[in-house]
Amino acid sequence: MLGLARSGLATVEALIASGAGVTAWDDREEARDDAMALGADIGNPLDIDLIGFAGVVVSPGVPLNRHPIAAHARAAHVPVIGDIELFAEAEGDLPPHKVVGITGTNGKSTVTALVTHMLESAGLPTLMGGNIGLPILSREPLIPNENGVGVYVLELSSYQIDLSHSLACDVAVLTNLSPDHLDRYDGFAGYAASKARLFGLQHRDQVAIVATDDDPSRMIAGRINHRLHRVSAKDIDPADQARWPALQGPHNAQNAVCAIAVCRVLGLDDEQIERGLATYKSLPHRMELVGEAHGARWFNDSKATNAASAAPALAAFPPAPDQRLHWIAGGQAKGDGLSACRPWFGHVKRAYLIGEAMDAFAAEIGDAIPVERSGDLAAAVGQAAALVAPGDVVLLSPACASFDQFKDYEQRGDMFRELVRALEHE
Ligand code: ADP
Repeated sequence: MLGLARSGLATVEALIASGAGVTAWDDREEARDDAMALGADIGNPLDIDLIGFAGVVVSPGVPLNRHPIAAHARAAHVPVIGDIELFAEAEGDLPPHKVVGITGTNGKSTVTALVTHMLESAGLPTLMGGNIGLPILSREPLIPNENGVGVYVLELSSYQIDLSHSLACDVAVLTNLSPDHLDRYDGFAGYAASKARLFGLQHRDQVAIVATDDDPSRMIAGRINHRLHRVSAKDIDPADQARWPALQGPHNAQNAVCAIAVCRVLGLDDEQIERGLATYKSLPHRMELVGEAHGARWFNDSKATNAASAAPALAAFPPAPDQRLHWIAGGQAKGDGLSACRPWFGHVKRAYLIGEAMDAFAAEIGDAIPVERSGDLAAAVGQAAALVAPGDVVLLSPACASFDQFKDYEQRGDMFRELVRALEHE
């Protein structure tokens, strides 16, 4: 096992419980100590002759295109896999169930959480895992209902798909595709090919659901030769969407249409579907209303780590005389700049830029929006607080990764929430 964060340690524990011998490694000593406490041997797989090992399990955080483990394992003919592959291999021994796999550049977590909520509220035994929630290997197997139905709903990043060759999803979903994570693939074609593998030829019994709102997704849909439902954000009637408070904005029409299609395939009726959509609550860090301060509403969209996912957040706040948008953006740039956000620059009254991307974003924005070079999040919140008028919206939707100033996007969003709470108490 290489990489001992949460899912890595859960993998070590599950493998040891199944009777396997495990050698584990992480560059961090504390993580190695945790694995040792679970009963693993400690050793760096790069220094070990891998012949005789059944596989190298790597955490999805290890960049396989750059990390020497890929070549080292290949030379020993040992497969490189992830925890999802271990789940897939053990699946045959589980009680009857269905697997829903959800991927895409943006909206994965939302669709996964929404499908889970809709199935649960319709009374189906459901377990959410993959790139969201608790590691799948740390969970007790799902107990099916009296009809033998239970559903695993898995959010799958492209890395997790890369690390699995036997996962066969009964229902597979692609929300959308746009350039992201290009540092880990040979360009966009490599990234798209990774996502497309979820719909590979071996899955003849699968139902594929593809939102065909962008060209790359349409291209993937065109190559699927088993059951396919093409869906589109345009299929959602705005009057219906207005009833679903946590699913506003065009991007959430796309997420909702994907989730509805999954639930239909799994047999939910219209009433169950409507109830699920109307009672869903948004996830933290995704357009999360964190407070009202200085007369403005403050939204935490820290999860928007690229321009394509910040764009719909900007789109959701068209300007009105009594509602002007203040946008906090920046962090560690992802390489796609702000081009996806440009169509919505007209919505923004003022931008507050932070992090490494500050100068590049300021240059890209030019005269299109008045800009504050805030530097960091606390300064940005302070400046916005001084400049908002009643009715305004302040939106943290960074269009950047967080790693230049934070541990992860959650820490960035948590800090924003705390800063806003402090303003409320001023
Ligand atoms: P993921 O898990 O794929 O990163 P999330 O559901 O967590 O996606 O949403 C992350 C951010 O991406 C949200 O805050 C929102 O701004 C944006 N987003 C969500 N759904 C979509 C979508 N369907 N299309 C474009 N952007 C989206």
